[in-house]
Amino acid sequence: MISNQLPALFIGHGSPMNVISKNRYTEDLEKLAFQLPHPQAILVISAHWLTRGTLITGAEKPEQIYDFYGFPQELYGIKYLAPGSPQTANLVVETVGEGNIRIDQKRGIDHAAWAVLKFLYPRQNIPVLELSLNIDQSPSYHFELGKKLAPLRCKGILIIGSGNIVHNLREMEYQEKAEAYDWAVEFDQFVRESIGKKDFAALINYRNFGTPAIRAVPTNEHYLPMLYILGMMKASESAMFIHESIQNGSVSMRSFKIN
Ligand code: ZN
Repeated sequence: MISNQLPALFIGHGSPMNVISKNRYTEDLEKLAFQLPHPQAILVISAHWLTRGTLITGAEKPEQIYDFYGFPQELYGIKYLAPGSPQTANLVVETVGEGNIRIDQKRGIDHAAWAVLKFLYPRQNIPVLELSLNIDQSPSYHFELGKKLAPLRCKGILIIGSGNIVHNLREMEYQEKAEAYDWAVEFDQFVRESIGKKDFAALINYRNFGTPAIRAVPTNEHYLPMLYILGMMKASESAMFIHESIQNGSVSMRSFKIN
């Protein structure tokens, strides 16, 4: 590991119900929390913020957004109120190059960030920022943008991609422990092996994997945050899987750390 360089994470977030559950996934996140550094700020690439152009939160005190509907009342009472950091937003814009990312002063922090940070950084004392996904761009654009964000890892910023490798809500089973669909397992394994081989081209062109890819990634907003993290992986680094499971038959919770 290069000194002073923070790891980067891809975390499968799945259903917001995980925030108030206790399962293998939440236990693995709690274990991971003990190994994580204390960064100056956390930047989360969110599957739940889709925009034209790429935006970053710039508010001093971003609000917590409960961007899900029809869940138990208990979930809407979960608080995660970390500060923002306008200074870090400027640093991100400068690092990537003017014109690539715009600052949004109003946007708050959605559950792709807080549902995960509740486990990883429960003290809520580190500034949190979110980066949106530019819906007009291709998977390779997102991978390349991840590369441009990489220098931030040496500037005290912990970067987390928050999405899901397999995310098909239409085919989702009600039970969290429902047996995984074959296509979900197949695509999840394809991603695991491709990450192991550092075959990033295969992951950028995931649709070439055929039917399992189309069913696992019916829309790619949950898949793309992973490409950012792979984009920032150095040749000397490798990925360590910190959790693997498939919840509700069609949602992969696979998560990994690079360093
Ligand atoms: Zn989600």
